[in-house]
Amino acid sequence: MLMQCPGCPLRFLYRYGKAYHSEACRRQHGHTKKAEQDHQLWIKTAEFVLPSQLRNLDPYASVQAVLEGHQKAGAKFYRLGCPGLEAHAGAKPQLRWFPPTTVRANSLFSIAPYEEPAVPFPGPYLIALFGAQHELLYEPFFKLPICTFNQITRWYMGTRRIDVRKADLR
Ligand SMILES: [Zn+2]
Repeated sequence: MLMQCPGCPLRFLYRYGKAYHSEACRRQHGHTKKAEQDHQLWIKTAEFVLPSQLRNLDPYASVQAVLEGHQKAGAKFYRLGCPGLEAHAGAKPQLRWFPPTTVRANSLFSIAPYEEPAVPFPGPYLIALFGAQHELLYEPFFKLPICTFNQITRWYMGTRRIDVRKADLR
């Protein structure tokens, strides 16, 4: 019996437990699928609309105010994600999350005391919020423009496989 490979146009002879025509195809397809999911998350998440009382703050203070505003809902930590500059060129790279695990083992910034985000370049980032036990409260549901970038943090250092979704899509 011939099977259609879900990763490419090839058909291959059925063998129990074998879903893709090759291991390389399985890995490549998994990567493409993840990139597509990340891309959807990125384009479908809207930018946070600043309430009028925050609009007079400078961009640093407004980010802090928005994050601190979520403490009422139990938010204690946050994580920032972005698809890198390639995204602007139409490619669909996977999202990278900051801080990287090489910088902070749990890949979380603290909201109280407030820790400034350190990201590779200024621009909009997805925000995922976490509670006191580092549990995910909200998967990314808004973007915020972040301008506290630092030259030492590079986009490729960001973490790719990390928990930012309630429903596990990976
Ligand atoms: Zn294949």
